Amino acid sequence: MICPVCKTAMIVTEYKDIEVDYCCDCAGIWFDSGELSLLFEKLEPGFKIDMANLFKKPSGQIPELPRKCPICRKKMEKVIAAGDNHHPIVIDSCAEDGLWFDKGELENITRIIVKAMPQDTGKIISYIQDAFSFEKKDN
Ligand SMILES: [Zn+2]
Ligand SMILES: [Zn+2]
Repeated sequence: MICPVCKTAMIVTEYKDIEVDYCCDCAGIWFDSGELSLLFEKLEPGFKIDMANLFKKPSGQIPELPRKCPICRKKMEKVIAAGDNHHPIVIDSCAEDGLWFDKGELENITRIIVKAMPQDTGKIISYIQDAFSFEKKDN
């Protein structure tokens, strides 16, 4: 798969049986549809992300350039993570194929997602930091 930002080939990597595509150049991450919720279900059994309410359409113009979906090549939609209006996190979304996270955005989204979880979720944040900070890893 080609990175929608750098246009270079991404690597496929797997965590807990969930495959994600990772760009070594920009540290962006692609999740196929459904894989993000699957990941959180594995980290916190029984928990379901309320995807319909997690992201909303921005009310104004987003200054980021549009990007093309790495699967269908159509222009992706900009959505913002609900729950933090002071520092909105802008995600690129293809309704059919999946979600694109720029470097650091997955961690920021995780902080929003875990707020909806019943228990202490520090371990989930550190898991995401570990699992998706590929620069630190040798393999
Ligand atoms: Zn890239
Ligand atoms: Zn697509």
